[in-house]
Amino acid sequence: TTYKVSVRAIENSGEHVVLVCFEDVTAFEQAGQMRRDFVANVSHELRTPLTALIGFIETLKGPARNDDAARLRFLDIMEDESKRMNRLVGDLLSLSRVESQERVRPTEIMSPNDIIRTTAHSLTPLAEEAGVTIETDLPDNEVSMVGDRDQVRQVMTNLTENGIKYSGSGSTVTLSLTGPSYEPRLRAQAIRLVVCDTGQGIEPHHIPRLTERFYRVDSHRSREMGGTGLGLAIVKHIVNRHRGRLEVDSEKGKGTCFTVILPVT
Ligand code: ADP
Repeated sequence: TTYKVSVRAIENSGEHVVLVCFEDVTAFEQAGQMRRDFVANVSHELRTPLTALIGFIETLKGPARNDDAARLRFLDIMEDESKRMNRLVGDLLSLSRVESQERVRPTEIMSPNDIIRTTAHSLTPLAEEAGVTIETDLPDNEVSMVGDRDQVRQVMTNLTENGIKYSGSGSTVTLSLTGPSYEPRLRAQAIRLVVCDTGQGIEPHHIPRLTERFYRVDSHRSREMGGTGLGLAIVKHIVNRHRGRLEVDSEKGKGTCFTVILPVT
């Protein structure tokens, strides 16, 4: 705990009194530290691709000026690095948008069945490229609920993309929907959106930290797969905005399931 101590001497009807004030500033200090860490992380994440870009521009202007093959190769790398920066800036904007909306309840009527169908459909090309199969498991009835359609879609996209990225060729990512049924922990009728993969799994000690900004289990793999380290932080804020819960079950070497529990009203 951090205290701010202030001392003041006052005179009260001829008596001198010394007031010592202890103020608990722990939360304030922690918020300040988190802000400083965040700025340091963002700067580092942006500087890495920028340094690469500057290096390649210098090489293209100098030693590789007349080397056609090298020029093409370097331009490809520069394109990748620029796209990485673009993704990072996009994710930072999404994160700041959902953080600022967290206190505003969503009001749209939407269909989670539809969200699963469109997510699976739009990520099929990415999955095919990675040798991953996407499957869906939907109830016969169409469910409707109150929520923010674009944001719930973003949750499903981020979780499914992770399933594809971190499980590798030959595995399966399954998107399923159950409910609505009574969820005691939310004290409400709620649906469950589940994204399961048959990938490498996550060791238990990493699980509580997965939704921290820029937290990665394997930084090298994340960067190689184009990850920004912000996907699950965005998911967590969207789930909070819907007054829902995010649960993670994982077994090393077997796979991971992310469950999003959202109240229907
Ligand atoms: P990233 O952009 O790095 O994927 P995320 O916030 O989406 O960032 O995820 C944080 C980290 O959690 C990832 O870097 C990865 O190490 C781990 N992770 C997320 N989803 C999975 C998964 N389905 N299987 C294994 N590891 C995962």
